[in-house]
Amino acid sequence: MIIDSHVDTPSQLIRYSRNIGVDSPDAQVDFPKMKAGEVSGAFFALYTPPEIKGADATRRALEMLSAAYDACDENPNVAAITFSPEEAAENRAQGLLSVFLGMENAEPIGESRSLLRTFYRLGVSYVTLTHNADNAVADSAAEGTRWGGLSPFGREVVAEMNALGMMIDLSHASDKAFWDCIEASQAPIVATHSCCRALCGHRRNLSDDMLKALGEKGGYVGINFYPYFLSDRFDQAKPWRPGVKEIVDHIDHAVQLAGIDHVGIGSDFDGIEDLTPEGLENISKSRLVLDEMRRRGYSEPEVLKVAGQNLLEVWKTIITCSK
Ligand SMILES: [Zn+2]
Repeated sequence: MIIDSHVDTPSQLIRYSRNIGVDSPDAQVDFPKMKAGEVSGAFFALYTPPEIKGADATRRALEMLSAAYDACDENPNVAAITFSPEEAAENRAQGLLSVFLGMENAEPIGESRSLLRTFYRLGVSYVTLTHNADNAVADSAAEGTRWGGLSPFGREVVAEMNALGMMIDLSHASDKAFWDCIEASQAPIVATHSCCRALCGHRRNLSDDMLKALGEKGGYVGINFYPYFLSDRFDQAKPWRPGVKEIVDHIDHAVQLAGIDHVGIGSDFDGIEDLTPEGLENISKSRLVLDEMRRRGYSEPEVLKVAGQNLLEVWKTIITCSK
């Protein structure tokens, strides 16, 4: 039922050569945990850290892509690499988990639209334009000095992604890059793992104006479970941690600004390096968020939208816009 728009599992797969087919105590995401938590699919991010540049970044992304394919090949009756919303529905009917691919940080494509198309052909459905460093495509929320938003090449990337039907992901992008994309993109845009700045002041969270614009353009925001993005009160040294309540506060706020059809879940599991939210140690617990939504009066159809339907619908619209 749940489709998570952002987990960092490929980085873990290459770092620990972990078997994702078994329930590992130190993994936040594996296939048994997804099944236990009624998570029917997740976007596996091919994440390149800002310090890896150029051809090394391309190589890193290909290694992670290969690890994601290997993980599915080793568990053929459990999960499959998934290229489209239609394939996700087929997988569900066959009892298979959907492993979607996203690229986090456009560094691996360098300044090459043909590399972008190559990754798309291999199954990469979204590109998070930046991570914590400005790159050839756009400025990051963590720096934001190189281009003043989207670069000239970044505008070509946006046009190419529109033509391919790829999702343009602006989590981590600078505010200026976000607004440039809102203006430049012919299709809706997404923020696969972002929270609300009105509730937690982190620079990489979305302002109310950004949430509104994202909804008006028909886009999607996946609420992130990383404690630093959920609450300004979070401090590793102190015992209090945000939990399900704070996550659903962010969902409520995003629903108010962007609309009920434009919000989902992008947990960042396997990328949460410090403490996970209280009571949400791994992806098997994500459904507790849906229980809290029900307690707050969301109808079952609304809960299902946020659980994953919205993401698939927005993706379908982005593909339709490309035709
Ligand atoms: Zn991220």
